[in-house]
Amino acid sequence: MSESDTSRHFLRQWIEKDVADGRTGGTVVTRFPPEPNGYIHIGHAKAVCVDFGMAELFGGECHLRLDDTNPTKESDEYAENIKKDIRWLGFRWSGAGDGTEPGFYNASNMFDTMYAIAENLIKAGQAYCCNLTQEEWKEYRGVPEKPGRPSPSRDTTPERNLQIFREMRDGKYADGEWCLRAKIDMASPNIHFRDPVLYRIRHVAHYHLGDKWCIYPMYDFAHPIEDALEGVTHSMCTLEFEVHRPLYDWVVDRLDEMGLLVVRGGVKIRPQQREFARLNITSTVMSKRLLLQLVTEGHVAGWDDPRMPTVCGMRRRGYTPGAIREFCARVGVSKVESESDPALLEWCVREELNQTAPRRMAVLDPVRVVIDNWGAEDSPNAVRTSNLNPARAVKTVELPNNPLDESAGTRQIPFGGEIWIDRADFMEVPEKKFFRMAPGQEVRLRGACIFKCTGCVKDETGRVVEIHGTWDPDSWGGNAADGRKVKGTIHWVDCATGVKAEVRLYDRLFTEKNPLKDGPSEFLKYLNPDSLQTVSAYVEPALAAAEPLARFQFERTGYFVADERDSRPGAPVFNRTVTLKDSYRPS
Ligand code: ATP
Ligand code: MG
Repeated sequence: MSESDTSRHFLRQWIEKDVADGRTGGTVVTRFPPEPNGYIHIGHAKAVCVDFGMAELFGGECHLRLDDTNPTKESDEYAENIKKDIRWLGFRWSGAGDGTEPGFYNASNMFDTMYAIAENLIKAGQAYCCNLTQEEWKEYRGVPEKPGRPSPSRDTTPERNLQIFREMRDGKYADGEWCLRAKIDMASPNIHFRDPVLYRIRHVAHYHLGDKWCIYPMYDFAHPIEDALEGVTHSMCTLEFEVHRPLYDWVVDRLDEMGLLVVRGGVKIRPQQREFARLNITSTVMSKRLLLQLVTEGHVAGWDDPRMPTVCGMRRRGYTPGAIREFCARVGVSKVESESDPALLEWCVREELNQTAPRRMAVLDPVRVVIDNWGAEDSPNAVRTSNLNPARAVKTVELPNNPLDESAGTRQIPFGGEIWIDRADFMEVPEKKFFRMAPGQEVRLRGACIFKCTGCVKDETGRVVEIHGTWDPDSWGGNAADGRKVKGTIHWVDCATGVKAEVRLYDRLFTEKNPLKDGPSEFLKYLNPDSLQTVSAYVEPALAAAEPLARFQFERTGYFVADERDSRPGAPVFNRTVTLKDSYRPS
């Protein structure tokens, strides 16, 4: 995270104070606790930057904990990809771990302990089994302004509660028939404090533990236990958990009474929770449920579709870990919900790629240009036609790989008198101030020579199919020997050696800034029908063997990345990360 005033945010100050007060036992320990029920998205990336970033800043540990306490939608595919994406973002988990690898925890490995803690609460009269239906439960719980009513089971004896709880565990009851509740305060203005549910019955197999359990702990019970038993000092989460904080502290108090808090460096570690605003980005959706819907209904090509706000989608789109981290740092950490403009993210990736991406020439909407006098210096009477024979004259153009970085070197590109240019770089009847290719007008072919258009050939529909003209043999390299000025410079690809490539041009996935404005069931109607356009392009020879995920600036066009899945040597596929056009100015 970059050192700036905004990065001295309240979470950082909070941790600084605890370190100074000696409350961490010498090690700041944080955790990132995703549920393995989907791929992580840019919002999670923000939490990753905060959780891992704070641990890094204080020389501590950040645990990766898969919060796999809700068996229905979890899988190893998700678990593995969460790990892959966090590593790709540039973060490493560390700490003891629960036995599989350092710093890594599966919350489900604590089910035995959580169960034992629940029994302890029952024995202490701090939890009871309740068999109200869902509707009754809500009705008894009431509204914040008015105290709730106690469940008829509230005063059942600990012995009887223990018996029911064990029967729940042993599968004697159906889903929803009974649950375990904490006995706290039915009159609390905070309704999360009104005897919240700790355990519920779910006859669903767990992706790791199979049918071992048919009761599963609720998040509010499991999370503080996981934090406490892992020795986490600072547990950061999003604002919606703020109202759950008293319950978090209640559970930690009970663990303290049971003598279960970790002692480190002579200090008893009491985990604390604090909340920050979630990251929201306009023109997309971020809930995993909605992202899953886009995938399963085929609106996108998968979780890693380059239009998705997932970390894997952004990787495939050509975003860099550095640009994503920079974006998260610039959005900052705050207590106030806000919406970020995707243009800031685009600005971040442009800033980085402008410095680092090799320049290449690619023509996305190609039209052929024939230089009629090409080679004429060797055989003055030769008239060139389209489809030059292979023995045609070839010269070599040398261009820098990156004008901002001399150490990136140069590359050689063949130039054989027939080239592709972008259709938009030609106008048969030029508008005012159109300094590119037009009949009677001179234009510089990037790095090669000055070319003067003489005319074009059109098909029966009036579409230009071929452009003709001549080059100035005294302009090799791009400048006229007599010093005359040529205003426009355009890029090109040599027809004989250029390589055909599939190029995918992406736009926003939704046409609305807030696709959820009519509710989550309506968001599909705002899908942008033109969010993907695939074109057949020609690219310079050096791009034929682009490695998957290699990033480039296509001159005058944008930043592109070789597709991670589909690009092949000789048949490259490129995804447009962003255009070059940048109207955004960060404040
Ligand atoms: P979603 O609502 O998108 O399905 P979630 O909150 O259920 O996400 P988890 O896997 O439970 O996803 O989240 C792991 C961590 O990431 C949590 O600490 C959560 O607060 C944080 N997180 C999730 N979404 C965002 C976001 N948009 N901005 C910041 N942090 C987020
Ligand atoms: Mg969640």
